[in-house]
Order: sequence, then structure tokens, then C-alpha cells
Amino acid sequence: MDSTEFRQRGKEMVDYIANYLDTIEERRVTPAIEPGYLRSLVPSEAPKKPEQWDDIMKDVEDKIMPGVTHWQHPRFHAYFPAGNSYPSLLGDMLSDGLGCIGFSWAASPACTELETIGSASECVLVSLLAARAHTMRQLKKQHPFLEEGVLLSKMMAYCSKEAHSCVEKAAMMAFVKLRILEPDENQSLRGATLQQVMQEDRAMGLVPFYVETTLGTTSCCSFDNLAEIGPVCEEFGAWLHVDGAYGGNSFICPELRGPMRGIEYASSFNFNPNKFMLTHFDCSLMWVRDRFKLTQALVVDPLYLQHSYSDKSIDYRHWGIPLSRRFRALKLWFVIRSFGIDGLQKYIREHCRLARRFEAHVKKESRFEVASPVLLGLVCFRLRGSNDINQKLLSSINASGKLHMVPASLNDKYVIRFCVCRQTATEEDIDYAWEVIKQFASDVLETVPE
Ligand code: PLP
Repeated sequence: MDSTEFRQRGKEMVDYIANYLDTIEERRVTPAIEPGYLRSLVPSEAPKKPEQWDDIMKDVEDKIMPGVTHWQHPRFHAYFPAGNSYPSLLGDMLSDGLGCIGFSWAASPACTELETIGSASECVLVSLLAARAHTMRQLKKQHPFLEEGVLLSKMMAYCSKEAHSCVEKAAMMAFVKLRILEPDENQSLRGATLQQVMQEDRAMGLVPFYVETTLGTTSCCSFDNLAEIGPVCEEFGAWLHVDGAYGGNSFICPELRGPMRGIEYASSFNFNPNKFMLTHFDCSLMWVRDRFKLTQALVVDPLYLQHSYSDKSIDYRHWGIPLSRRFRALKLWFVIRSFGIDGLQKYIREHCRLARRFEAHVKKESRFEVASPVLLGLVCFRLRGSNDINQKLLSSINASGKLHMVPASLNDKYVIRFCVCRQTATEEDIDYAWEVIKQFASDVLETVPE
């Protein structure tokens, strides 16, 4: 493909994407396929000769699209939103067009200076590695004759049962012991719980060094109590990481900043504009109090990557696991400039308003209950009754392809998560979803009397 054909195909692709998004409702929100569906549709070998672009695009529609879950569909209410907007799409297109790799300032100055990090899981892992390296240095000073392995075996990290699974994975990868703590009845980790276990651990000769908290948990969008947890971390000298992957975006609205109380104790904080700020995956922002603690954990400095501006600039290769990074910040920059703070606040407030509308529907029906406080765009609800009946309800709705939602477990109860996801979600979308849910609930209750 030369630049002449690229101009033509690029314009066609823009049309294809705009048409896709404009007519997405005509498709089924989830694909009606079984695992392995694609194997029989594509050749087993790569083509020897170049193929025509039209043939490739035809296969996109005939073979790929039937296997796509449409995250931007108005009937998609699963997980959290997958950020999307035209300015963000254009930002990513430009980023790919530039094709630069931003591992150091010299390699990509503008990319470095407009930088963001990849995903929330990466932020959690990186903060854990930084805390581990910092604590290891301190322990080695105190116990110069002990092996690193012995010191590591003493280190304890903590998080709530409601923390994202990436925390457990990070601890696994970092060979760090993790204590998973019970939150209170509102799924919020409290300072007293943390204090008690840290004291117990310290009394047993262990070293509490890292606490992971969440503002906006994945299951039910609950908020850990930073104002209580912060002073405990300070007392124990532990690194406090705050994961605001979804909820953190809402702090752009002053009236939603209540759960941030205590944020001043944080050693690091991340949030994902790709969840709730109209920006495509991947785009996670990470703030660290002391960047040298972070980079000391991750610096490896071969000659071929060094440059003469190292003292005056940031090299993001020392801030994460991969060396290379895309120019991800462009799309976020486009989004912030195109929407402005006003536009972003409006979007977040509208999703919160629509979630409250859905909550009001649930509250009006005595068959149902709301399972946790609704603070942002997520409502956890369930049929009053057994876990089994709720599981049946959700699987029958999902199998119909009329809506897509996912479950969570709260206090051992199976709940259904309804998330306002689509950028341009409307009251009609919410009301439609509620009608579908009510209809399926009647069907399920008829077949399985409680
Ligand atoms: N933290 C929270 C609270 C999340 O909800 C999620 C994903 O939903 C993650 C972390 C992981 O995000 P990522 O896919 O960016 O690693």
C-alpha cells in the first residue's frame, strides 16, 4: 500500500468506523458463537501472495465482526466503560502514524513530556516493586548479613478482599506475601482492620511495607477509607498505593471528591481515563510522591540507551516493565482539549444521573434490591432470593443477546452489575434495560418458584 492508496483506504476506514458506531444497535451486543468459531473460517496458512484490501475488509465484516462483543453498544452494561470518543480515536491514529517509541526523552521528547502509563495493573505492580526495593534497601542496612531472600520472606503487603485481582497477581510476580483483608459491610477497607493485622504481623517479626487501596472497586464501586488507612500506613512506614482505575476519573467533579479524603497520605495513585474519561485503552495515569523510589527499583542502564540529557529529563523506561512505549498521551491530550473540563464533567455527571435512574427503577420493584450504595455509574442489584435464581436471571439475559451484564459476589451474595457504559447513553437505554430485566425476572420466577 502506498500513500495514495492509504489516503483512500484511510478515508474508507474512517467511514467504516463512523458507520459501525452509528449503526451499532443493529448488531447483537454479544456474539452468538462458540469458542473456536474462527478456525474454520480462516485459512490455516498465511497467504503467499499479497491479497486485495477489499477482500481483507470483506472478511472483517464476514468473519471478525460475528465474533466481536460490542463494548460501545447501548445494551452493553458489563464491567466498566471502555472509553471511546472520536478525538481519542484520532489521537491513537496519529500516535500510530508517528510510530515513535518513547522509552527515553532523547528517543521521543514530545512523547515523554506528554506521558501516561499503560494499564492500572501495571501501575499496581510498579508501585509494589518500588515499595519492595525501598524496604529491601532499608532492611539490608539493618541486617547486612541476612540474605535478600530471607528479608523478602518477612515483607507483608495488604489489600482488601474487594481489591482488583491485579493486586494478587502483582504480589505473585513480586514474590511478596499478601494479606487480603475483610472490608466493612459497605465493602470499604477500614483503618482499624489494617492497624490490627499490621500490629499482629509486626509482633511476629514481619515487616508491613505496602498497602493497596481502591477508590471505586470493580465489584461494586466501593471506596476504601483513606482518611483512616493513611495514618496507619504512616505509622508503619508503609507505601500507600491508591487505585482509582474507574472512580479516580470522577474526581474531576468537585462534588464527587468526598472519597478522596486522606489522599495526601498516598505514595502513589493511578486512574484510567480509558475507563471513565472518554479515552481508548490503554491509558492509565500514575502519580508518585517520590519518583526516585520508583526508578531505583527499575533502573537498568545499558550504554545504547543512554543520552546526554539524562540529568535534565525523564526516561520512562525506568518507570515501568516494558522498555518501549507508544505515544499514548496524544489521545488523552486530544480528549481533554476537545471536551474541556466542562465536557468531561458533563459526561461523568450524566452517567451518574443515569445510574441513579436505574437505581430508582430497582427500588420501585419489591422483587428486587439494590445491593450496595450507588455513587458513580454502577448499580449492583439482585432479585430478593437465592444466588441460584440470580445466576439464572443473568445467564438467561446474557444468552438472549438483549443486554450484556456481569455478576459480582458481595458478602457471599450473587449480585448483577449494571454499569452505564456507552458514551452517549440515554434515559431510553436505561429504561429499555430495566424492561428487559423485569421481563426475564418474571420468566425466571415462573419457572423456578422460590
Ligand atoms: N483496578 C480496578 C479498580 C479495576 O476496575 C480494573 C479493571 O477493571 C483494574 C485495576 C485493571 O485495569 P487494567 O486493565 O488497566 O490493568
